[in-house]
Amino acid sequence: MASEAVKVIVRCRPMNEREKALSCQAVVNMDSPRGQCFIQNPGATDEPPKQFTFDGAYYESHNTEQIYNEIAYLLVEGVTEGYNGTIFAYGQTGSGKSFTMQGIVDPPTQKGIIPRAFEHIFESVQCAENTKFLVRVSYLEIYNEDIRDLLGADTKQKLELKEHPEKGVYVKGLSFNTVHSVAQCERIMETGWRNRAVGYTLMNKDSSRSHSIFTINMEIYAVDERGQDHLRAAKLNLVDLAGSERQSKTGATGERLKEATKINLSLSALGNVISALVDGRCKHIPYRDSKLTRLLQDSLGGNTKTLMVACLSPADNNYDESLSTLRYANRAKNIKNKPRINEDPKDALLREYQEEIRKLKAILAEQMNTNNLSGLLPAETAQLEVKPALLPEPQPDVEAEKQLIREEYEAKLAQLKADYEAEQESRARLEEDINTMRTSYDLKLSTLEENLRKESGVAIGSCFAHTWYFHRMMP
Ligand code: ADP
Ligand code: MG
Repeated sequence: MASEAVKVIVRCRPMNEREKALSCQAVVNMDSPRGQCFIQNPGATDEPPKQFTFDGAYYESHNTEQIYNEIAYLLVEGVTEGYNGTIFAYGQTGSGKSFTMQGIVDPPTQKGIIPRAFEHIFESVQCAENTKFLVRVSYLEIYNEDIRDLLGADTKQKLELKEHPEKGVYVKGLSFNTVHSVAQCERIMETGWRNRAVGYTLMNKDSSRSHSIFTINMEIYAVDERGQDHLRAAKLNLVDLAGSERQSKTGATGERLKEATKINLSLSALGNVISALVDGRCKHIPYRDSKLTRLLQDSLGGNTKTLMVACLSPADNNYDESLSTLRYANRAKNIKNKPRINEDPKDALLREYQEEIRKLKAILAEQMNTNNLSGLLPAETAQLEVKPALLPEPQPDVEAEKQLIREEYEAKLAQLKADYEAEQESRARLEEDINTMRTSYDLKLSTLEENLRKESGVAIGSCFAHTWYFHRMMP
């Protein structure tokens, strides 16, 4: 399976009013076309600036629209095809993480990555032919190693992490809202965002210490030109991490420092996971050390396309934090993921058979080329166009080997064919079962509606709107 490195970009925000009032100097510079970022140590101006190279380098004049189009777009497009995706925003408090993820409405070019992903996904939903989509969203936060549902009835309730042999790690009781439009997604994002803020005021918390994960789950059911159906599922995690500043800088000591360390346990665990992954010699990756790394295990070295946006302040008084962010981001570049399309296992199996046949054919063609032989299988020789008169007389041992290859190929092909046919049969049986279930479901539903209608005399059909919805472009 092909591996793919985690993509990392840096974004430096403009100097804020406070930094301007303090007459701060800018120490960060970018060569955007080359994806390079330079940082000058304000305490050693005679030294050359430190230089880093990323998949993108965005300076204060750039906007989120450019970032989305140039780098996030492909990742979200992958999600609409069945790949998992994760986008992290990393950086110290006030560096622009929420500005990048959530964004602002005015100017529209600074709308965040999360609402842009909504638009992108619903555009795909509307353009796809013969395809049904189920889109569900969830929004949670991790604070002090407690998980809270930002869309739940009780946002104070702590939720537990569970592990399922097939589904993997999940949050028990987390609410999933089925969504049908961009506007609905935006409302949900705002509700969650408000619940976050209310929580901090009530509980005297610090928002910069929490991680939030907005997840969009997609199930894609498509029928191909041969009338065969395919089910794919993908999820997009949009992660706004806690501020990465070191605790020592906040002046916390003793109990308060201990508490602060626990609060940022997920963040330090994330750093340790990244280090272990890029170290190469490490057999054990400490995913289990924190809630964040357990939940996002697949985004780090697993089955996900991952993008990290490292956010920076340009000011000299943030030099240490900015340098530490750049070093962190630089390490993350070396993580290799193995993203694959998440499809119905039966489809995956079929794809495997096809791949196996392709490989066998390639091996056979190569053998024929190297031995300069013809006449193995009619279909294969036709492609080679070797003139028999020009061939040397076949040697007996070559002839025997040829025979062996042919037998092996034919046996394997027969086996594959048998497997494939069995597969088709069980698929047909499955379809039959689904149809029976669907008929019984429809019957029960209409009986229920009929009974209710009789009782109340009111039409209630709309209450039972199906969660699946079907899109077909008009010709
Ligand atoms: P964080 O989430 O990292 O703590 P915020 O995203 O809240 O930081 O950004 C802090 C402040 O800086 C906000 O007022 C935000 O509007 C502003 N800001 C951040 N990035 C930019 C940017 N690229 N352009 C303009 N303003 C920005
Ligand atoms: Mg923030």
